Amino acid sequence: MAVGTIGLAYWTSDLGTGIFHWSVDNYGSKATPLLGGVIDAFQGHHKYPWTITKRQWANNVHTTCVAPLVFTTPTLLLNDRATDLIFVGVFTSLIVLSQQFHAWSHMKKSELPPLVLKAQDMGLLVGRRDHGQHHKSPFEGHYCIVSGYWNPILDGSGFFRALEQAVFKATGTAPRCWSDDVEFIVQESAPEGWGRGVLK
Ligand SMILES: [Zn+2]
Ligand SMILES: [Zn+2]
Repeated sequence: MAVGTIGLAYWTSDLGTGIFHWSVDNYGSKATPLLGGVIDAFQGHHKYPWTITKRQWANNVHTTCVAPLVFTTPTLLLNDRATDLIFVGVFTSLIVLSQQFHAWSHMKKSELPPLVLKAQDMGLLVGRRDHGQHHKSPFEGHYCIVSGYWNPILDGSGFFRALEQAVFKATGTAPRCWSDDVEFIVQESAPEGWGRGVLK
């Protein structure tokens, strides 16, 4: 039972990172309450992607620690069913660790630990080529960063375009991926103070 729950959490955490990553890439800014820091980190990552491979582990994963509180806090307060706790624990841990899986997908083969390389090649962790597509025009897909399993499903079905239309109809806010690609173009250097924790 526990193994099935862990497997389900692993499988759906990839979907969770896709939806979360899509939302922070496309909506809000540094000034957004609560999530401003993580939004700035994800949107800035498109301009300065190389910094993710130079950041210390904790400086990388801490940006994804706040959002999972939405799941963990009510679960711990209101629920003591073992399977629910296992699911939420594994699901949210993988969401937090996805920033490290993401960093590995930006590294060269020669820089990766052999076990990580193997896991990427087996499709257990998001691959370098898969995530590379996220940083290419039209900059509107490949948002999942645990295993990448859901990327072809979400991109192929037009899931995010439908969600963007629904958000636009309800709020009048267009996602950043509808605008010019210039928002996502890599810059040669990062501004002073951006990407704290980057090792020189
Ligand atoms: Zn992104
Ligand atoms: Zn990236």
